Amino acid sequence: MITGKTKTLGILGCPVGHSLSPLMHNAAFAALTLDYIYVPLPVEPDHLGQAIAGLKAMGFVGMNVTIPHKVTVMPYLDEIHPSAQLTGAVNTIVIKNGKCIGYNTDGQGFIQSLTAKSITIKDKTAVIMGAGGAARAVVYGLLEYGIKKVIVGTRNVAKAQEFVKLFPKSRSKIEGCNWETESFIQALQECDILINCTPIGMSSNKETQLPIQWHHIKSDAAVCDLIYNPSPTDFLVQAEMRGHIIMDGKGMLVEQGALAFELWTGEKAPRKIMSETLDKFI
Ligand code: NAP
Repeated sequence: MITGKTKTLGILGCPVGHSLSPLMHNAAFAALTLDYIYVPLPVEPDHLGQAIAGLKAMGFVGMNVTIPHKVTVMPYLDEIHPSAQLTGAVNTIVIKNGKCIGYNTDGQGFIQSLTAKSITIKDKTAVIMGAGGAARAVVYGLLEYGIKKVIVGTRNVAKAQEFVKLFPKSRSKIEGCNWETESFIQALQECDILINCTPIGMSSNKETQLPIQWHHIKSDAAVCDLIYNPSPTDFLVQAEMRGHIIMDGKGMLVEQGALAFELWTGEKAPRKIMSETLDKFI
């Protein structure tokens, strides 16, 4: 029941109609009988600054941020947590004492989804395909939690080289290369965890295949895809056929949401309810 005391949260993006976050968070508030509501906040890029000021003025307690505002929202915030600073993007805002504080829960969310599948990262080698926003969050999480080496493969080597420069303190642990080179084949041979951070495999992008030569990959390597719809993607189907442990993007979606929920409410998020709610809609 919405009352005069109900605290308001939402998801800021353009568009937001496809987002499952309102369903997931409202189910979590209902499960814990917390007096919060989570609404869609469709905001055009030109109105982003006004929207942030308005949400602050209207007493919102926080929000999630999605495409295309994850980076452009940063100048409008009062403080940026290291998780967002190092990822270069914000996916969660907490509004407290009139201040907007930006966080990024994607990296830790990814790591927690690996942990839930008993995939360990300490002293392992990871190969990442793609060098966009999600790859940044994943690499931030992997470095925070003790990965030995990360190789970032892209279709465009310049993008991989730029990506590597984003992590100057971990320079010795990251390499970038074009994914059609010998260096990438060598990376696949060393790889313990292979992660698709591109949209290749989404329903809108099904015609393209990731350039993986499966025989190069160790049989005990884990294979992950950040995509959660469809699940499994063709990439994961092929990995599973070859006996690899696989993980889709749903765990990360739940975990990044759960971490945001905990930042807003201070309560432990009901992950099982959140996950079951998503299952009804994915
Ligand atoms: P992004 O910032 O647009 O980056 C996409 C990356 O994929 C770029 O490196 C891009 O390369 C590459 N790419 C795109 N299309 C390609 C193609 N046809 N061939 C080769 N490379 C291609 O996107 P993002 O935000 O990182 O998201 C990436 C994926 O992760 C999406 O599928 C998204 O849904 C998923 N995701 C899942 C979660 C979750 O919670 N599970 C969270 C965030 C994202 P160029 O730079 O060369 O274009």
